[in-house]
Amino acid sequence: MDRKKIGKEDFEAIITGKKDVREYMEADTVMGETFCFGVRTASNPDYLTKALYEMYETSLSRKLAVQAVRNLYRSVGLGSGGLNNYIKKLGINLTPAEFLLLVFKLQHQQGWGAPFELVSQTEKKIILRTSKTFESQVMKEWKIPVCGIHRGWIEGVMTAVTGRNWFCLETKCYAQGDDCCEFVADQTESSWKWKAQAIVRGDSAITEYIEHKPLEGKIKLIDDPVVMMPRFIFSSMMNSLAKTMGEVPAGGVNYRAYMDMGKENVEHYKKMGITNPNTLADMAFTFYSQMGWFRIIKMEWNEAEKTKTITLEHTVESESMANSGKNVCFCTAGLLAGIVEGAFGIKVRGREIKCRSKGDEHCVFEIKNRVGDT
Ligand SMILES: [Zn+2]
Ligand SMILES: [Zn+2]
Repeated sequence: MDRKKIGKEDFEAIITGKKDVREYMEADTVMGETFCFGVRTASNPDYLTKALYEMYETSLSRKLAVQAVRNLYRSVGLGSGGLNNYIKKLGINLTPAEFLLLVFKLQHQQGWGAPFELVSQTEKKIILRTSKTFESQVMKEWKIPVCGIHRGWIEGVMTAVTGRNWFCLETKCYAQGDDCCEFVADQTESSWKWKAQAIVRGDSAITEYIEHKPLEGKIKLIDDPVVMMPRFIFSSMMNSLAKTMGEVPAGGVNYRAYMDMGKENVEHYKKMGITNPNTLADMAFTFYSQMGWFRIIKMEWNEAEKTKTITLEHTVESESMANSGKNVCFCTAGLLAGIVEGAFGIKVRGREIKCRSKGDEHCVFEIKNRVGDT
């Protein structure tokens, strides 16, 4: 099949509306190939869209699944750099926002992207509106702002053509009953601090920022190197220490070691520019929880007794050591105490008062001020 070459006058015809993509559609049903405006394409698969959202929903909340889709489509948008360069080479000069509208116009005419109306544009902020997107129709039953595909797409295109990082929010969505889908894209920094705070606020999950290179033997979590380890390392380490020094001192050593680690972890967050003590503590709790160490059931603060009570589900040690008839979470107790010490700059003592391994429903920790203690 001889395919049409797309030139400057074709782009101009599309932009001005003199032509639409129907004139540039070529389908070779024998080869199973469809081309539109010079690019291999396919029809809009609603079931693929739905499957994507639902795949992420199996391990995330709906809100975070939308974020994961956004992240994926960011990469799709980043791929528009090539088209932008080609257009420039043809001598067509478009502002980033105009280029964005062209991308969506081309997509929309093929049944994908939304036909956007540009509400406002400055160098650092763009507001776009459309009556509805295809994902807001497909995912309407979720009844929340679902347009992660368009958010990511907008971010990716804007990042590709400006060379700066963009972040896009959806302020109105057809899927939650609004009169339109409205997107606000801002040029922002994409610092460690910014990403970490989004995780603490619940707007992102750490999975968005895991960079796993299994073939190189490397994993990074927001630019920090991390490792995966099997959970049984906790029972193995405890047994080995208990054999050499006895069980009680082994618990003490673990407590102390993890307390130092908790403190160091908070120091690292401080170096990254986080200063608020509550944010520091929340950040550490959230990160360890999302890394699989435990799930936080509740945190309580008793002002009169200056005591923080933390209730956790499936701590790494109670899961690793199963039922042993006694408290086993020395590492976790140390970690929690270290986080509180580091974040608030006080001296505390962490004690596990209930433990799943002892037969309690959850593991409960008390973190007490130890001013005056030795
Ligand atoms: Zn929407
Ligand atoms: Zn426990």
